[in-house]
Amino acid sequence: MWIFKRKNNLQRYIQKKTAEGLSIGFVPTMGALHPGHISLVEASRNTCGITVCSIFVNPTQFNDKKDLENYPRTVEKDIQMLFDAGCDAVFLPSVEEIYPTLTTRHYDLGTLEQVFEGSSRPGHFQGVCQVVDRLLDTVQPTDVFFGQKDYQQCMVINKLLALSSNLSNIKMHISPTQREANGLAMSSRNLRLNQKEQAIAPEIFQALQYLKKNLQAGSQSKMLAQARDRLVAVGFKPDYVSIAHAKTLEEMQVWDGEAPLVALVAAFLGEVRLIDNLILTD
Ligand code: AMP
Repeated sequence: MWIFKRKNNLQRYIQKKTAEGLSIGFVPTMGALHPGHISLVEASRNTCGITVCSIFVNPTQFNDKKDLENYPRTVEKDIQMLFDAGCDAVFLPSVEEIYPTLTTRHYDLGTLEQVFEGSSRPGHFQGVCQVVDRLLDTVQPTDVFFGQKDYQQCMVINKLLALSSNLSNIKMHISPTQREANGLAMSSRNLRLNQKEQAIAPEIFQALQYLKKNLQAGSQSKMLAQARDRLVAVGFKPDYVSIAHAKTLEEMQVWDGEAPLVALVAAFLGEVRLIDNLILTD
């Protein structure tokens, strides 16, 4: 497995592989890897000639400075996990390598920036687009792999690919959310939960399943309030517990019985903000 810290060395490697006729699968991450990330590497290996994974804790997508400082960093373990998973190359750039200039483009993400993660974390998706745009420009992959765990982010990346003519040929793949046996969505931030919080954290998935099980056409308000109250009762500070149109993310308090739906939760457990989602309709 190759490890690159500089863009130009990585690009030379990729150009060689592209010239050999191999497709390039790319998995961008912020490290502190877990089996959820590895499932993306596996999806890429099953689809592409070579797989490149990046590990970069992107400062421009953190609207909370403390969250950036406390973000877990386990790079040696990450490299071992990628090696074991059969990843071909890892890109470990410095902040200066990704952001040699401060000029930043504004990405028109429309309403995606005004709801859920967009409104709760101002500037977050602009930062995501800045880094993913720069990484894609460097790697020039044929295929890119993201996790459904970050549902809204997947929609933002789809939009980014559509916005930029040089990225529009890249094929986007979305892999299902990997969960612990107790249902908790795997996340790098789970490392920051203490023992008591770890025992409570799976309640988010239980709340999502409750919404799915009790879904009926009509008003969703009562069911959403019950799910939210339960999270509060066990110790969460919910940011949102919502149901939205699965394709537009328009919030849906009333369901016509037909529109595709996704349930979305963001909630603080102590200092740690957790997010999860579940598609409610087939
Ligand atoms: P992150 O390192 O958190 O930025 O995540 C890197 C990629 O891994 C993103 O596409 C995430 O959606 C994906 N990912 C994170 N957690 C999971 C999970 N539990 N299951 C599947 N994919 C995940």
